[in-house]
Amino acid sequence: MVLADLGNQLSSALRSLNETTIVNEDTINQLLKEVGNALSKSDVSMSLIIQMRKNIKEKVKLDQMAAGLNKRKIIKQVVFDELIRLLDPGVPLWKPTKGKSNVVMFVGLQGAGKTTSVTKLAYFYKKKGFSTAIVCADTFRAGAFDQVRHNAAKAKIHYYGSETEKDPVVVARTGVDIFKKDGTEIIIVDTSGRHKQDSELFEEMKQIETAVKPDNCIFVMDSSIGQAAYEQATAFRSSVKVGSIIITKMDGNSMGGGAISAVAATNTPIIFIGTGEHLTDLELFDPSTFVSKLLGYGDMKGMLEKIKEVIPEDSTSLKEIAQGKFTLRSMQQQFQQIMQLGPIDKLVQMIPGMNQLPQLQGNEGGLKLKAYINILDSLSEKELDGKKPITQKRIITIAQGSGRHPNEVVELLEQHKAFEKIIGNKGGPGGGLGSLLAGK
Ligand code: GDP
Repeated sequence: MVLADLGNQLSSALRSLNETTIVNEDTINQLLKEVGNALSKSDVSMSLIIQMRKNIKEKVKLDQMAAGLNKRKIIKQVVFDELIRLLDPGVPLWKPTKGKSNVVMFVGLQGAGKTTSVTKLAYFYKKKGFSTAIVCADTFRAGAFDQVRHNAAKAKIHYYGSETEKDPVVVARTGVDIFKKDGTEIIIVDTSGRHKQDSELFEEMKQIETAVKPDNCIFVMDSSIGQAAYEQATAFRSSVKVGSIIITKMDGNSMGGGAISAVAATNTPIIFIGTGEHLTDLELFDPSTFVSKLLGYGDMKGMLEKIKEVIPEDSTSLKEIAQGKFTLRSMQQQFQQIMQLGPIDKLVQMIPGMNQLPQLQGNEGGLKLKAYINILDSLSEKELDGKKPITQKRIITIAQGSGRHPNEVVELLEQHKAFEKIIGNKGGPGGGLGSLLAGK
């Protein structure tokens, strides 16, 4: 089950809680069954699911809840927290130090996405203002150096490798020394992967580790292995000091949830997830943001960061949102700003509720956003500011004016209602964007 499906199933289980007239033990059991089924389809291990269900049952004590409490909201919050706990090893993420050389060593099996992730990470830190370089110590796979050379050149990142030296330890040490001498802040060493966890590979890794003394050793694994990630991560951890993990190919495969939860169970923090083949398809992993996005509550913090990059803090739209208000005009402004931030499909997922719409998955997201902007541009000033309700007759006229189908106008208005709820902090757990902006 791809992540979007997992998200849809989890949110649908939580939504069905709203549809029941009374909330009792049966309701909770049914909800836990649905949540468990969804996680199991994503290859989350049975023992983790059982533990999660136990935790939820312990925290939700219906008979001890005072009358008048919003039971549905409490249950949703507990499920939300437990989903985060499932994916969170609770270990702080490694951060490089500015102004000194940080050596990062990559390990992983062949095909896991190691070399691709090396360049993505170098690019990520370069964008953050660090001087970065890559050392290709994979002398095992023919073409590995060429791949690094090609990727690094594309991303305008310095690199080192050798066509003739066959000893990876020598290449690693030489490269790291060169870049340390010139004060490069992030030096990433790519090592070779093999088809399986063979002892020769582990021995070579240990030797490189001794030679370059990494500040962080990142283990890269392919998410399609699902819960088998536990065993693989444990095996690598027992050979070298794995400090962080990158899980790749989280776009479009079915076992992502299983892989992340299995890794969390090894107490090693996942630092990034790979979400595509492009240079920028690398996302910092934060369990709470991940679950938020999965359930369609959006990535409020990520969104806020992005928005702040392009709009001044004193803009009316941000001020309004901070007060928990969200007019169609605010929506129009947000969408226009989002369009400037590109790649749209990734950003659309940050918007609360957007992942609920199947037509917004993938590249379609950008087209949909453009359609919404066209519709918003056809509204009157009063409609934009929420001073005049939009009637059925107006929906038809707006659709004609914007060249869109009336259903899309209705969809947009529904979407606006959903946003309004979340922004006013009436929506899902995680706090509204309004309260986040107001710093509450
Ligand atoms: P390595 O052998 O571990 O160095 O693996 P590579 O970096 O050569 O990657 C193997 C394949 O996986 C390549 O085709 C990459 O483009 C692809 N790949 C790597 N990361 C991702 C990812 O996050 N998403 C997708 N869809 N493909 C990826």
